[in-house]
Amino acid sequence: MEGYPRCCFSRRYRPNMNGNCEDSQDRYAALRERMVEAQLEARGIRDRRVLEAMRRVPRERFVPSNARRQAYADRPLPIGGGQTISQPYMVAAMLEALDCAAEHRALEIGAGSGYQAALLGELCTEVRAVEIVEDLAHRAREILMDLDYENVHIEVGDGTQGLPEYAPYDRIIVAAAAPEVPEPLIEQLADGGRVVIPVGGRLSQRLTIIDREDDELKRSEQMPCMFVPLVGKHGW
Ligand code: SAH
Repeated sequence: MEGYPRCCFSRRYRPNMNGNCEDSQDRYAALRERMVEAQLEARGIRDRRVLEAMRRVPRERFVPSNARRQAYADRPLPIGGGQTISQPYMVAAMLEALDCAAEHRALEIGAGSGYQAALLGELCTEVRAVEIVEDLAHRAREILMDLDYENVHIEVGDGTQGLPEYAPYDRIIVAAAAPEVPEPLIEQLADGGRVVIPVGGRLSQRLTIIDREDDELKRSEQMPCMFVPLVGKHGW
């Protein structure tokens, strides 16, 4: 954030004398609106709550400062450590598949930049997000704190083991590609709960939905996708 006026990066934004910050805020708001219309609505994202959340969360805050101008581009972007923040459409498609309600408690595996965790914070009552790369987790935590997402908590650890201390979860979303659905995630899923996870090989996967009803599991496979690998005990 160094070299930028503080007001450009805070929700507690106040216009300054020359109005520069207001300009850049307006510019990002316009890019965000265009992203929602051209990348999400035009491609069939219909969930009103997901679209509203995508209109609210400032994606430019979650990308590294040297990539900020591309924050609303139609593709994933590097966030450091060989990891990426997913393409906006993929984030929206996953959240639509997750079908969150306001009273849900959600678990995200692979918090990365914290962007999807913030969106979950808009959609659910409480969010726990696990990230295995410590630096990314710390950065995500700082941004979420700065944006006042008090219902989103970032933990450092191996998310393939879930986060048993706060289980069960109504919704679990995995933002990295798994060879199979990690068993601990199923164990930590509430009755009536849902997991959304990319499952398949290292290079391509299918977005997979697991629903738990009365201790029965229903599995369906959706669109093809490409995520970075889920590492760890029950990952690659
Ligand atoms: N949801 C993120 C994008 C995640 S990219 C965002 O909105 O920016 C996938 C992330 O999963 C990477 O940051 C990677 O470090 C993390 N990851 C991979 N294996 C993991 C594991 N076992 N536990 C937790 N995080 C993991």
